[in-house]
Amino acid sequence: MASHNIAVVPGDGIGPEVVDAALPLVEGAAADSGVTVETTRFDWGTEYYLDHGEMMPDDALDRLAEFDAIFLGAVGHPDVPDHVTLHGLLLPIRKGFDQYVCKRPNVLFEGIESPLRGYEPGDIDFVVYRENTEGEYADVGGREHRGLAHETAVQSAVFTRRGTERIVRAAFEAATRREGHLTSITKSNAQAHSMVFWDEVVADVSEEFPSVDVERLLVDAAAMDLIRRPHEFDVVVASNLFGDVLTDIGAQITGSMGLAPSGNVHPGGEYPSMFEPVHGSAPDIVGEGVANPLATVLSWSLLFEDLEEQRVAADLWQAVVDQLGDDSAPRTPDLGGDAGTEQVVADLQSRL
Ligand code: ATP
Repeated sequence: MASHNIAVVPGDGIGPEVVDAALPLVEGAAADSGVTVETTRFDWGTEYYLDHGEMMPDDALDRLAEFDAIFLGAVGHPDVPDHVTLHGLLLPIRKGFDQYVCKRPNVLFEGIESPLRGYEPGDIDFVVYRENTEGEYADVGGREHRGLAHETAVQSAVFTRRGTERIVRAAFEAATRREGHLTSITKSNAQAHSMVFWDEVVADVSEEFPSVDVERLLVDAAAMDLIRRPHEFDVVVASNLFGDVLTDIGAQITGSMGLAPSGNVHPGGEYPSMFEPVHGSAPDIVGEGVANPLATVLSWSLLFEDLEEQRVAADLWQAVVDQLGDDSAPRTPDLGGDAGTEQVVADLQSRL
C-alpha cells in the first residue's frame, strides 16, 4: 500500500478553515485508492510571527525537507505587512526547495458563470507556468535598497539562462501534452535586457519542440487578451511577477478566487513540492464558516498528480466537477450560494 508523508501548514485566516475541512475528505479519497496519507501539522504563519518575530522557525526547511510534499492553506494578517509573510515563509520555501514551476490551471467549470459575456463552461481552459524562484522576486544580496538621502528605492530582477530555460522547457513540455499552443509573456519592448533575454531563450528552446505553436505577447496586451479572448490560451509561460498578476485575472474570469488551485513544483524529486489554493487569508470572511474549500480540494488533486497518484487526483477533481455541475448542490456565497464550508465538503464526500 502506497504511503505519503505530507507536511500541512494551514497558515492564517481562512487557511485553517479550508484545510481542516478538506483533510478528512482527502484522506478518505486516498484510502479508497489504497493510498495512506500521513500528515504532520505545522502552525506557522502570522500568529507565529506575532509571538516569535518570525513566520517559521530557523530549522523549518530542514524539517519540511523530510516530507514527500507540503500543503499550505494561506498566509496573511491585517496587522502584518504582506512583504513579511512573503519573505518570511512563502519565498524561503519556494526558493529553498527550488520549486521553480508555479503551475496554475484556469478552468471554467460546468455550472460556473464567467463574468465575461458569452463564455460557456469548457471555453476557458489554460494553465499558467510561472517562474517561481528568480526574476523580479530575486534577492540580489544587498543591491536592493532604499536610499535615505534621496528617497530612492532600487529593486533588481535577475534572469539566468538556467532559470529561464527550465521554466520555459517545462511549459513547452506541458504544451505537448495539451493543445500544443504556448504563449510567452514579457515586456520586452520596455525591459530591453531581461525580457529580450527571455525571448531569446524561448526561441532557443522552441527548436526542441517543433510541434508546439508559439505566440509572444507583451504583458499589457496579455492582460487585455485574457479578458477579450481567453479561449485561445492553452499554456502560458511568464516571469515571477507577470505570472503572479495574470493568474489572478485567470481566477476571476473562471468564476472565483475560491476555485483556483496551484502547485509550487520542484521537478525531479530532490525536494518536496508545495501545493496551495491561489487565494489568500481573506480576512473579510474569516470565522464565518463560508470560505470556499474547492480551491483547496483541487490543490490536493494537483498534489496527488505530482506524487503520481493519478486515481486519487482524478477522484478529487471529478468530485468538484460533479458538484459544480449539479444545480442543487450546496455552494458558498462567492459562487452565489448560501452554504457553508462544511456543507460543501459533506456534499463532496457523498460524491466520492
Ligand atoms: P492576501 O492574503 O493574498 O493578501 P486576501 O485574502 O486579502 O489576500 P485574496 O485571496 O486575493 O485576498 O482574495 C480576495 C477576496 O476574495 C477575499 O477578500 C475574499 O472576499 C474572496 N475570497 C478569496 N478566497 C476565497 C474563498 N476561498 N472563499 C470565498 N471567498 C474568497
